[in-house]
Amino acid sequence: MTKIKMTRPLVEMDGDEMTRVLWKLIKDELLSPFIDLKTEYYDLGLKHRDETEDKVTVAAAQATKKYGVAVKCATITPNANRVKEYNLKEMWKSPNGTIRSILDGTVFRAPIIVKGIQPYVKNWTKAITVARHAYGDLYSGVEISVPKGSKAELLVTQEDGRTIKETIHDFDGPGILQGMHNKNESIESFARSCFNFALDTKQDLWFATKDTISKKYDHTFRDIFQELFRREYKGKFEAAKIEYFYTLIDDAVARVIRSEGGFIWACKNYDGDVMSDLVAAAYGSLAMMTSVLLSPEGNYEYEAAHGTVQRHYYKHLKGEETSTNSMATIFAWSGALRKRGELDGIIELQEFADKLEKAAIGVIEEGIMTKDLALITTDKNAKAVNTVEFIKAVRKKLESKIEK
Ligand code: NAP
Ligand code: MG
Repeated sequence: MTKIKMTRPLVEMDGDEMTRVLWKLIKDELLSPFIDLKTEYYDLGLKHRDETEDKVTVAAAQATKKYGVAVKCATITPNANRVKEYNLKEMWKSPNGTIRSILDGTVFRAPIIVKGIQPYVKNWTKAITVARHAYGDLYSGVEISVPKGSKAELLVTQEDGRTIKETIHDFDGPGILQGMHNKNESIESFARSCFNFALDTKQDLWFATKDTISKKYDHTFRDIFQELFRREYKGKFEAAKIEYFYTLIDDAVARVIRSEGGFIWACKNYDGDVMSDLVAAAYGSLAMMTSVLLSPEGNYEYEAAHGTVQRHYYKHLKGEETSTNSMATIFAWSGALRKRGELDGIIELQEFADKLEKAAIGVIEEGIMTKDLALITTDKNAKAVNTVEFIKAVRKKLESKIEK
């Protein structure tokens, strides 16, 4: 068999712990035997981030701007424990945060739906795609612990030196303070990605904020969406017979639960962080959630929505058997390869991505799955397999699909 050729590289960002183990397995078993894999490799494993003072993360994000498509393994965001565990020079920032602040844009997360794995919300018969704004708010916030007796003020110095000042609070005891921002430009590109994604996938778009309470901050999000919709998208949505619908965030969560799915739910950064985990868990498993960052310049970064599965990794290190679900990481690769194929006009690569996804779904639907799914499947004959056995089963199915 001749391997599929690539013309331009994918940006490959390796990561940490159990997902780093999966990464190598997926490449060795499911990709390299079939594709002449062309990647520009960046090691975002915590040790290497520390050695490079995190410059490798910035370089990887910049490479994504150059090549247009990246695939990223889950990475550790260090906390105090990790600083000790890895003897870090510094508590480096979240790599996802760094990459998102360089690329800007929106993260789309959608569940991988397979027969036999039923969502906890029984009326969710279709996928709900959460579109998370990937810039600003809490994630680039500035925080201060305020001592007793302080006066906290919000001060803006304009270009011409004039100032705007608001009192936040007079503290009669110790307290806390947070400053966050967003940019109209970023909000508009968030809105644009959501409208485009809705048109591409022919799904309704829902958006919600807390604009009744946050009359400037959240209301600006609402206004920018509304204005862009009116100006550029209303006609296109009507032609595609889809809807744009705005409501309050509390009303949205209630409606989402009662819905049957099949729409895109646009969320501000924090709402999207929390709600995408909720939606993923409700569809069965965090490991069945795909995630792609779409930047306003048209760059794509594919990843799994879950973390590095630390608990499984420690078992793996002790030589114990693990049953870690590789679906989301497989789909990160298939998503990136399909996009590379689309952008470079390589049909074989797009077809390979389809076959890989079908093979992976097929294996689960035939009753071979990792423990997280075996616990919740309705398939009474399901067999729980270990990490390697699952990937080998996908390989076997993929080979039979490729031979056809
Ligand atoms: P996690 O990796 O999301 O795993 C939490 C738990 O969810 C696991 O212990 C496991 O449950 C289950 N799980 C998640 N993915 C699974 C999979 N593929 N297969 C089977 N079960 C899965 O979160 P964590 O272990 O608390 O966090 C570890 C590190 O991940 C942290 O350092 C954090 O900074 C990082 N993180 C990275 C990203 C990212 O890079 N995108 C996102 C989130 C977190 P059981 O233990 O019950 O089996
Ligand atoms: Mg989260």
